[in-house]
Amino acid sequence: MNVHQPSSDSGPLSLSESLHAALVEAVGSAHVLTDPAVTGEFTQEWTRRFSGPCRAVVRPGSTDEVAAVVRACMAAGVPVLPQGGNTGLVGGSVPAVSPGRHGAPVIVSARRLSAISSVDQLSGQLTAGAGATLGDVHRAAEAAGWIYGVDLAARDSCTIGGTVATNAGGINVIAYGMTRASVVGIEAVLPDGQVISHLSGLLKDNTGYDLGALFCGSEGTLGIITAVRVRLHRPHAATSVALVGCTGFASALELMSRARAGGFPVIGAEVIDASGMELVMGLADLPYPLESRWELVVLLEIADGGDGSGLPLDESADAVVAFDASSRARLWSYRERQSEAYSTLGVVHKLDISVPLESLAACADELRTLIESYPIVTTYGVFGHLADGNIHLEIVGPAWDDLEIDHAMLACAARYGGSISAEHGVGRVKARELGMCRSSVEIAAMKAIKDAWDPQGLMHPGVLFAE
Ligand SMILES: Cc1cc2nc3c(=O)[nH]c(=O)nc-3n(C[C@H](O)[C@H](O)[C@H](O)COP(=O)(O)OP(=O)(O)OC[C@H]3O[C@@H](n4cnc5c(N)ncnc54)[C@H](O)[C@@H]3O)c2cc1C
Repeated sequence: MNVHQPSSDSGPLSLSESLHAALVEAVGSAHVLTDPAVTGEFTQEWTRRFSGPCRAVVRPGSTDEVAAVVRACMAAGVPVLPQGGNTGLVGGSVPAVSPGRHGAPVIVSARRLSAISSVDQLSGQLTAGAGATLGDVHRAAEAAGWIYGVDLAARDSCTIGGTVATNAGGINVIAYGMTRASVVGIEAVLPDGQVISHLSGLLKDNTGYDLGALFCGSEGTLGIITAVRVRLHRPHAATSVALVGCTGFASALELMSRARAGGFPVIGAEVIDASGMELVMGLADLPYPLESRWELVVLLEIADGGDGSGLPLDESADAVVAFDASSRARLWSYRERQSEAYSTLGVVHKLDISVPLESLAACADELRTLIESYPIVTTYGVFGHLADGNIHLEIVGPAWDDLEIDHAMLACAARYGGSISAEHGVGRVKARELGMCRSSVEIAAMKAIKDAWDPQGLMHPGVLFAE
């Protein structure tokens, strides 16, 4: 059986001649990729932790082409894996290591759907093809005098469709909310190949279920998003950025609370531990920015006109402050390059939990104690979005498929009333743990929606719900 060449059999990894022909008819032969040298970048996750076989990668260039591809796969009984920029971190953007009962998927890459409309100056909205990168959406908004509120370090690789599918968070949630808060309409291809298109951008539209909101966090299980209408914001006048040394999460939260009480909008409140600071300094050849070494460094960005008056810093603070754009970006790089820095150490178990703010310090302490109880761990670190009660745990040492520590960390977050996924999603790697933070009634309600829309179970099986 051949994984990569069209064949006439219908094995779990093969692309039958009839499906190959239907895909070529839908998108043209140049956009049906079967050569492993080419499909490799679509089948391996950014973390290099997960990869699995696909039958083909298909690159449609329009919504109609996406619909034709979906209909062809469904008729052939072949699973579909929607993919954006493949920057996901939970095993959900690439095929399973071992194909499930339906066999390997056809990956439908949205990257060619990259057109971005002009900004509607009256409503402050734009429409982007699902494959437009987040960075391109930012640049389009900024060129028209606006900003887009969702931002994250993978901005020049991840797509707007992927950020909707994962309901991405990022570095400005404190100011603008998760992706869901920015979405005012979507267009998508449902698992039966029909298209829903609701891109008018009406702010007031109480005509039943908000299907666009349902796609936020759907992780590709309900269909393929082809376009997104988003709301924009007017930019703040200049901002001030500070890195401040803190003794732990309790003092970091106290600092953030003082910043929020200061009367200026806080648009970023992030945290980096000592291990992460050292790694990024090595990776980016940056100096240690503060006078003393601290257990935690907090990054605050305040929209105070760029004069520092909104920063809650007294004379005893060990802090460095930046006002101009390039100095602000330099301070942000200590935080933004964390994920990349840990990835230089090999395969990293990346966990992404959130807990109520009042439990954050206690939960963070318990997580550290737990990690240190595993001799197999060679390096670990903590960084994240302080204001959102969201910490990212980076753990190096356990084999890629050793899930014992992952499970223990997620269970700890759940004990504190937290979520096993603050922003990266459930993917494949946490599908079995969904019940830690969602009730059986909630899971059954979600599954009922999934089953109603995708009765064959072919739209991204194994993600969100364990197969
Ligand atoms: C360096 C780095 C930093 C990151 N920082 C953050 C962060 O701060 N906050 C955060 O939330 N995430 C972060 N991420 C994770 C990742 O960037 C986000 O999850 C992002 O939203 C994924 O977008 P993507 O286009 O790469 O989607 P992919 O990785 O391709 O896919 C992710 C999921 O969405 C589905 N999907 C993708 N496109 C579509 C579509 N068009 N229709 C339907 N389903 C689709 C896929 O099936 C998959 O389940 C980071 C990742 C990296 C590598």
